[in-house]
Amino acid sequence: MTLGKGNSATTARKARPGSSKSNRAGVDRILGTKRDRVRYFKSLEDIPELSEDERDELEPVARIYPFRSNDYYLSLIDWDDPNDPIKRIVIPCLDELDNGGTLDPSNEKSNYVAKGVQHKYSPTALFLVSKVCGGICRFCFRKRLFAASRKEASLDISEGLEYIAQHDEIDNVLLSGGDPLILSTKRLERILTGFRRIPHVKTIRIGTKMPAHNPYRIIRDPMLLRVLSEHSNPQRRIYIMTQFNHPRELTPQAARAIALLQDSGVLLANQTPLIRGVNDDPDVISELFNRLSHSGVAPYYLFQCRPTRGNRCFSVPMEEGYGIFEEAKRTMSGLAKRVRYVMSHTTGKVEILGLDEDSIYLKYHQARDPEDVGGFFSAPRAEDALWLDDLELEELGTFDEVQQLAEMES
Ligand code: SF4
Repeated sequence: MTLGKGNSATTARKARPGSSKSNRAGVDRILGTKRDRVRYFKSLEDIPELSEDERDELEPVARIYPFRSNDYYLSLIDWDDPNDPIKRIVIPCLDELDNGGTLDPSNEKSNYVAKGVQHKYSPTALFLVSKVCGGICRFCFRKRLFAASRKEASLDISEGLEYIAQHDEIDNVLLSGGDPLILSTKRLERILTGFRRIPHVKTIRIGTKMPAHNPYRIIRDPMLLRVLSEHSNPQRRIYIMTQFNHPRELTPQAARAIALLQDSGVLLANQTPLIRGVNDDPDVISELFNRLSHSGVAPYYLFQCRPTRGNRCFSVPMEEGYGIFEEAKRTMSGLAKRVRYVMSHTTGKVEILGLDEDSIYLKYHQARDPEDVGGFFSAPRAEDALWLDDLELEELGTFDEVQQLAEMES
């Protein structure tokens, strides 16, 4: 069995003469012939494929934005390819030292209503229950959480439970972090049980990259699958919000984890940012979303990369991103095309709808102010714009207002 090798042009990788043997040995170990545990690494010293010079060069980056991964995920890297997308996801790079952006680009600090709990959109409460992940993605928009001094995430959700019990407009909760599936199954069970005691909470979402970072977390824990099954039922489902960024993460192990989750009665949807050097290619996006939809994982959001500190090198301008997405859609099935290209701005979730010769068109898919939901915007085209704040917005109004205007003008 091989890892990280699909059956298409974008997934086929050539073996590295010097490292394929050690990679294969690592894979065999992970598959259980020699070791039954995935090992986590926090130091670049633990990556023999990096030369000493490379480690010395990248150490200052990892001191600011920590490195973390595991032997399963690292085994997906083709070390022969300097532009390997998996390497780009998890191995530090010097460009991260470019100091543009902020550590809280969506102004999440303004959303807190209780310890570890944000309430931005009326029906949804967001719980940050962990500050650890199966690996640290270099482009993470919550990288601020990984600082030792940061106390935003909280395992104690009692205040949050009290808050949502008093807000019956909240019918869905989202567990995030960090990665909630890094928690022990017992802790997760306590959290899920707490939510299920509140009748108006219908949907529980768990945002996780664990099926990509370490599918063995799922494959080897029947108790996790039982707990999910007990808390997901036809009236009140659990959704697992996966984060596959590239088709090479869809390994046989990931496919097994997806199938087990589906068998447990949860539903799956995927969200990924558009990332320079990882998936800024129509063929890659098309393959990723098609393969996810073939597996029963609904492609849900394609995110504009947030202007987070250290992320400038991963950002794709909106106009280019729109072009990539539209081109990808030509070879995507209708089911794969359910995905929306959006940016999570402090004012709301803004969908990037289209371009014409002069303007870019946008719409509030979700908004901090409920009055704004559905509002249309346009702005003069700006080739290099990376974020809503880079555009000169002109409000067009609601859909009804635009219709009325069009009727009056005709
Ligand atoms: S899994 Fe999510 S929260 Fe964790 S590092 Fe990656 S992007 Fe950030």
